[in-house]
Amino acid sequence: MNEQTVCPHCQHVREENEQQVPSWQCPGCGRKYYEKDAPSGLLYPASWKAEWRNTDEKNKVALVFTLAIALVVLATNWGRLPTPSVHNSQWDGSVYQVEAYLKSNLRDPDSYQGIAWGKVTPKDGGYSVYHRYRAKNGFGGYVVHEDMFFIDQQGNVRKAVQR
Ligand SMILES: [Zn+2]
Repeated sequence: MNEQTVCPHCQHVREENEQQVPSWQCPGCGRKYYEKDAPSGLLYPASWKAEWRNTDEKNKVALVFTLAIALVVLATNWGRLPTPSVHNSQWDGSVYQVEAYLKSNLRDPDSYQGIAWGKVTPKDGGYSVYHRYRAKNGFGGYVVHEDMFFIDQQGNVRKAVQR
C-alpha cells in the first residue's frame, strides 16, 4: 500500500483512480506539489517558492530605492561639502589647485615642470601663492614662468599674474 499523497496547497488526498494525472501534479487543484529549491536542493511546496520570489523582488525594489535616495542626498549636498583647503604640499611645496589649473590651461600641459613654490598666504578672503615653472610655448621651446596665483576660498584659481 502506497503512502497517501496530500497536496500542500489544497490538502487534496490523491486517489488510486487519479493515475492519469502526472505524479508531480495535484489532481485537485492542478498545481505542482513540490518544487526543488536550486541552492539547497530541498523540496518545497511550489506556492512557497512563489512567495519567496515575491519577497526577493520586494527586497530588490527596496535596495534600488535606498540607493536612489542615497544618490539624491549626495547630489544635493555636493555643493555644501567642506571647501578644499589650499595649502603647500608637505612633500614638495606644490599647491594642488594651481597644478590642476595649469594642467587644464597650459598650451602643452604635458610639458609642465614645477620648479619652485612660494608659501600660500591669505589674500583678500582667499589665497595667493608664487610659483615658478617651466612649460613649452607654441613653438615647442621651454619657457620659465614666474606667476602669482590668486585662489578663492573654494579653491578656484581666479587669476594668474606674471611676476
Ligand atoms: Zn492541490
